[in-house]
Amino acid sequence: GYRSRAAYKLKQLDDLENVLSRGDTVVDLGAAPGGWLEVAAEAVGTEGTVIGVDLQRIKDFDDHDTIETIRGDMTESRTRERVIDAAGGSVDVVISDMAPNMSGEYSLDQARSLYLARQAFETALELLDSDGDFVVKVFEGADVDEFRADVGDAFQYVRATSPKASRDESSEIYFIGKGRLTAPVRSGD
Ligand code: SAM
Repeated sequence: GYRSRAAYKLKQLDDLENVLSRGDTVVDLGAAPGGWLEVAAEAVGTEGTVIGVDLQRIKDFDDHDTIETIRGDMTESRTRERVIDAAGGSVDVVISDMAPNMSGEYSLDQARSLYLARQAFETALELLDSDGDFVVKVFEGADVDEFRADVGDAFQYVRATSPKASRDESSEIYFIGKGRLTAPVRSGD
């Protein structure tokens, strides 16, 4: 079994659009407790690398020594810098399942979700090689169409889907950006 039910969502997203491949370097944002990390580690195999980031500590994986974890806040630039350092070069896939702590007020939670999704998108633009793929969760609502269009501009295409494994949380959608259009530009390169 996996550490989270969310693991099955990533499997469905990967079945749909084939984002994870052997040997890939994958960066997973909002990775605790680590179900997506397990699925990604299985998919990339021993030649691959998986880097997980979360506000929460992620327990060590006894059976996957390809997984590296970072505890930090992705809205802070110093955390993004640590991720860039850990990746140390080319990144094939950025996936984000980040979600805010729920206040219970939908418009507030939705705005926070979109903010986290935009942070993940910025990170993907900073990290991803050309042709790399991006998966991001966002709660349906205000300004999501504009976000989808922005992702679409940076990738060959973008697909929106709600995996069956998240049917009970019907406000969640995932965007899959396939094929980053340009190589990353990093200062200092
Ligand atoms: N995909 C994970 C799995 O399979 O185990 C589940 C992720 S859970 C739905 C969302 C996570 O996003 C939480 O663990 C939360 O701590 C994290 N998160 C929320 N805001 C964050 C931030 N600013 N930086 C890093 N992680 C964040």
